[in-house]
Amino acid sequence: MQILTNKQEAQRTLIEKKSQGLRVAFVPTMGNLHQGHLSLVRQAKKTSDIVVVSIYVNPLQFGPNEDFDAYPRTLDNDKQLLIEESVDYLFLPSDSDIYPRGKALHTKVDAIENLTNKLCGASRPGHFTGVTTVVNILLNIVQPDVAIFGKKDFQQLMVIKRMVEDLCLPIDIVGGEIEREKNGLAMSSRNGYLSSAEQDKAAHLRAIIIATQKQIEAGDTNYASLIRHAKQQLENDGFKVDYFAIVRTENLEPATKNDKHLLIAAAAWLGQPRLIDNQEVLLN
Ligand code: AMP
Repeated sequence: MQILTNKQEAQRTLIEKKSQGLRVAFVPTMGNLHQGHLSLVRQAKKTSDIVVVSIYVNPLQFGPNEDFDAYPRTLDNDKQLLIEESVDYLFLPSDSDIYPRGKALHTKVDAIENLTNKLCGASRPGHFTGVTTVVNILLNIVQPDVAIFGKKDFQQLMVIKRMVEDLCLPIDIVGGEIEREKNGLAMSSRNGYLSSAEQDKAAHLRAIIIATQKQIEAGDTNYASLIRHAKQQLENDGFKVDYFAIVRTENLEPATKNDKHLLIAAAAWLGQPRLIDNQEVLLN
């Protein structure tokens, strides 16, 4: 695996690979890699000749009271995992590669408001601007043919797909399935903040989403009541609920009884970390 330590080297190297007719797949991450990230890497490998992974903890997508400083940084272990997956290039940009004049003095990319003003965007003001800005910069440096993002961050995947479409970037954006712990908890770099007792408790988030899915599939369309019930159960389990929503997958608006493609999405704090998870529901 070759390490690309700055944007000039990355751009030069990868443009050359593309000019040789090689298909480049890109998996952007913030590091502290786990099987969720590695599943995206394996998916990337299947579709392309060259796999590029980036690790960059993007300050612009963290709110002032969020965990930017505490975010787990485990570069040596991450490198080892990527070598074992036979990744071709690891791009490690510095802050000055991404925001040469500082993040405050950088051009921002804003996705459309009606995708970013709800769910995670409602409680994390500015978060998606941070995401779309950094992803745009990374895509312009790496210039991949395809970029893979996890469905765990379903809203992020939608926002990025829409941004790429609206800005005419010639890149396929592909979603990867959610990787989970044995108990159902969606893998996340923030799970490391949980004690082992909390990890067991955290699996209830998934269980409550699945129970809601089963009720919807059984024909219950009283979504307001299902949401109320799910929130109550989460609170009883010791979660502090940010949102529990049943939305139309296509635009993340609240689902109505005639909608067929739904997303159950939830975010809740358990102790320190804020956990997110979701489940698509297809009705016929
Ligand atoms: P992060 O390092 O948390 O910014 O995540 C980098 C990429 O990995 C994003 O596209 C995430 O959606 C994706 N990802 C994170 N956790 C998982 C998971 N459990 N399963 C699949 N993809 C994931």
